[in-house]
Amino acid sequence: MAKINSQLRKEIYQRDNNLCQVCGRKTIFTKDIKTDGDYSLEASLDHIIPESKGGKTTKDNLRTICRSCNSRKGTVTDDDELKFLNLNNGNFTRIHNAILLALARIKLNTQESRIVMAIIIKTYGFQKSEDWVSNGQLEEITGIHKSHCANTVTRLKNRCIVTKTGNKIKFNKYFFNWNELPKKVPKQVTVPKQVTKVTQTGSKVLPKQVNTKEILKENTKEKIVASATEVINDPSSEMPTKKEVIPDMCLNKRYDIQIIGHFVRFKGIKFENKKQQSDFINRSVKAATILKEYEISKIMEVMAFLGKTANYKWGLETIYKYINEDIEVLAGKNKDFSKGGFIGNL
Ligand SMILES: [Zn+2]
Repeated sequence: MAKINSQLRKEIYQRDNNLCQVCGRKTIFTKDIKTDGDYSLEASLDHIIPESKGGKTTKDNLRTICRSCNSRKGTVTDDDELKFLNLNNGNFTRIHNAILLALARIKLNTQESRIVMAIIIKTYGFQKSEDWVSNGQLEEITGIHKSHCANTVTRLKNRCIVTKTGNKIKFNKYFFNWNELPKKVPKQVTVPKQVTKVTQTGSKVLPKQVNTKEILKENTKEKIVASATEVINDPSSEMPTKKEVIPDMCLNKRYDIQIIGHFVRFKGIKFENKKQQSDFINRSVKAATILKEYEISKIMEVMAFLGKTANYKWGLETIYKYINEDIEVLAGKNKDFSKGGFIGNL
């Protein structure tokens, strides 16, 4: 940088009221940093047009800038460096805004959202709806250890946000069938005891997990949900408690019950008690058994199609009638449906 004399420096700081011209914060002179704190606010001068592009060291081309803005600027604001982010070079992912909105609303923990992103990149990013994605590849993309990747994929699968058939992973774009798991599955609440001892090496004594009333309550809830699930597996048995618990069929071990569960969820059917639910299962189980040989994503695709186009009462049997049709072709014939866009973008 060309030498800036102290007179010019002073004039520019004064003209700019000592405010960083990028972030607007008040800058601090180097001599005051020691007494007045924040090093990131240290004032310096910045060439508006860089010297490398012929910018002159004149009052017109100089401005006040804080240290943090200056260091950021040095690394990423050069237009040439950012050209790779231009969409025109074809490297982008098409995804319907409705799906992005659903992703913005669903509660995911950090690992879950990173894995979802990775799966979207590995599939939609390459214009595929599903692909073989190993845990090693997920680790490579997210930096999360592959054993955690595997667990996270299982959680996402249980929540119907992704489907996994064999080694093939697919993001489930039919977000209306995602599970809002946090409300339904009791999670272990542990309260760590306060750390009382710090060893000389500085490593903390690990907090012990203690049983609290909350844990006991949660465990009981877990038992109720578990036994209620048993009831669904055997609809003739009695509920073990007075309190009605309607288990989420989408989480059932049996695939035919899961299919019924997704149908119920899609249709927004509500059961007031266990008997209503098991009656419904008994009525639906035959159609669900036929559908068992199809992937849940295919079944949901047909549900989405019927939900948008059918102007008559349709049930699980109707899904069976359409399951061997090419939904994309049917959707193409039906303007209303393709306008809706659920199928449109992958
Ligand atoms: Zn700044």
